[in-house]
Amino acid sequence: MSDFAGVTLALSKGRIFQETLPLLAAAGIVPREDPESSRKLILPTQRPDVRLVIVRAADVPTYVQHGAADLGIAGKDVLLEHGGMGLYQPVDLKIARCRLCVAAPRGFDYAAAVRQGARLRIATKYIETARNHFAAKGVHVDLIKLYGSMELAPLAGLADAIVDLVSSGATLAANDLVEVEEIMPISSRLIVNQAALKVRRAEIRPLIDAFARAAEH
Ligand code: ATP
Ligand code: MG
Repeated sequence: MSDFAGVTLALSKGRIFQETLPLLAAAGIVPREDPESSRKLILPTQRPDVRLVIVRAADVPTYVQHGAADLGIAGKDVLLEHGGMGLYQPVDLKIARCRLCVAAPRGFDYAAAVRQGARLRIATKYIETARNHFAAKGVHVDLIKLYGSMELAPLAGLADAIVDLVSSGATLAANDLVEVEEIMPISSRLIVNQAALKVRRAEIRPLIDAFARAAEH
């Protein structure tokens, strides 16, 4: 356990961190080091009562669920896979926006395959979300778990289609894939440990309010 008495916020590097910086600044939180260049995983901020922990995007809900972080910022994609247990999700920050889609090789008639009741091989890192989506449509699928580069799977003959995040569509196009179905729009959410919010409301509530105000701008 750590001796830190303040509030701990879990963040991932890369896209979410870059888009979170202005929201943090609006809450008076300025990291003392850049996580992209620092090897430190615990980053102090200009506020002595707030620190950051830097974790993999998919690990953010786990840190907050178990109270190792009081708050975090995670994509809805990651939250759906995690399940959201023990988490309060008070603010849609409207950052890191994209959509979760089904994509298939140009020339594969996805709609016809679905109509004919074909059994589809789907590669994705979003197993739970994909399972729920296809079950709701009554489509039979074999789900194949991958950890990255989903676009390769249909090209290499591993799958008929993929479920992945798309923003511009450039990566799909570069690999001769087309979006055949949108599953849902995705953005990042502020998440809060439910128990921490009850016990430490006086410290955490103002941060939630600051993020909510910053997200409106
Ligand atoms: P890692 O790179 O550590 O394996 P990751 O690939 O999940 O993890 P990122 O690519 O930085 O990490 O994605 C983090 C989050 O950013 C995703 O969970 C999603 O919510 C959002 N995101 C991913 N891709 C896009 C995109 N193309 N446009 C906008 N937001 C995106
Ligand atoms: Mg990535």
